[in-house]
Amino acid sequence: MRNLTSLRLQAYKDLVLRARGGIIIYLVVWLIPALWVGMQQRTPLIFYANTLLFVVVALARSIHYLRFKKDPSANPNQRYRVLVGLILFSALHWGGVSAWVVYGSPYEELHYPYMIILAAFALGGTAILSISFFTSILYPLLIYVPTISIGLIFFGDEDHMLAVLALFSTIYVIEAARVSRRDYWTAIKSKKEAEERAVQLEKVSATDPLTGLYNRLYFNDHFVEEWSRCSRLQIPLGLLMIDIDHFKSINDRHGHLAGDACLKEVSLALRKKVQRITDTVVRFGGEEFVILLPNTDETAAATIAQSLLHAISEITPTWGEGSSSVNCSIGLACIVPDHHKTRESLLRAADAALYQAKSQGRNRYCAAKL
Ligand code: GH3
Ligand code: MG
Ligand code: MG
Repeated sequence: MRNLTSLRLQAYKDLVLRARGGIIIYLVVWLIPALWVGMQQRTPLIFYANTLLFVVVALARSIHYLRFKKDPSANPNQRYRVLVGLILFSALHWGGVSAWVVYGSPYEELHYPYMIILAAFALGGTAILSISFFTSILYPLLIYVPTISIGLIFFGDEDHMLAVLALFSTIYVIEAARVSRRDYWTAIKSKKEAEERAVQLEKVSATDPLTGLYNRLYFNDHFVEEWSRCSRLQIPLGLLMIDIDHFKSINDRHGHLAGDACLKEVSLALRKKVQRITDTVVRFGGEEFVILLPNTDETAAATIAQSLLHAISEITPTWGEGSSSVNCSIGLACIVPDHHKTRESLLRAADAALYQAKSQGRNRYCAAKL
């Protein structure tokens, strides 16, 4: 349902852009031959009335277009209906004008130019507008029907022939519109699917499949971004390096699946405790995690580290009979980045602090001196 709606919104936007030319073209194509043959003197009422109607419709279509440009996603359903209505009105108006020029006007010299213009409008307009079912079927019908019906009903053999030919070309145009409408919808559906797949792929490539945390690949890019953001704003960037204590013995005693379950539990605990939207929890390696804490000084990072130690020690082991609780050690480093310092120095400092925590007996954090 969500997909269909976003496709319809795309179709509406495409239709607005494709119909732009129609804002002015009818008025221009009406005025050129009319002024050429001096319609303003010979049939002034029809000339001025039609010119006024073309101008009014052009203005209405311009206002519609400008509103769309201001906010392309506002009221799409209502605006779509208005646009289709205006397009179909333009088609009917042109169809009526053509029928009058061909069968009811004194301008014999305009018969053939008008038949050519009529065919061009029907073919071109339908090809351009064949996004919506209504425009692709009704546009050629409304353009042709006045000329065809008047020719068939009221006039002689030659006009009958013209009307029959116009009828065949209408059928042909409608069929072309059907094919072009089908191609359009197939193309935007495939484009949407490709976009969705690209988003999914990007998500998958940034995620660790076991724990659902961000992976090292993501971290590498994200670390660069956060480093330069904190450097620009001159705010501290905290980094915690976390390593599960004696994890190998969990694997050895309970098996690797139990080890995996433990990794998932620890990941969940880390994610729950680190809730600021800008903080990032990453599975850095086997049983090692990194947490990036932008705009966090050493004191705040130490509080977070302490709460993580507590949260992990609170995990109830579910991964094996008689398994004891799990603990971890944390290395903490904090820096206000600038161009004299490097990202590697922050990582190295946190890593050294982690090994200090290990050597001091584990289940604790140590802060690096930078
Ligand atoms: P320390 O307290 O010094 O950190 O000891 P440790 O046992 O945690 O560290 P060590 O580096 O000796 O062992 C880490 C183990 O983690 C070894 C490796 O087999 C295991 N490991 C790494 N990735 C995974 C994984 O995805 N699943 C499981 N089950 N085990 C893993
Ligand atoms: Mg390790
Ligand atoms: Mg370990």
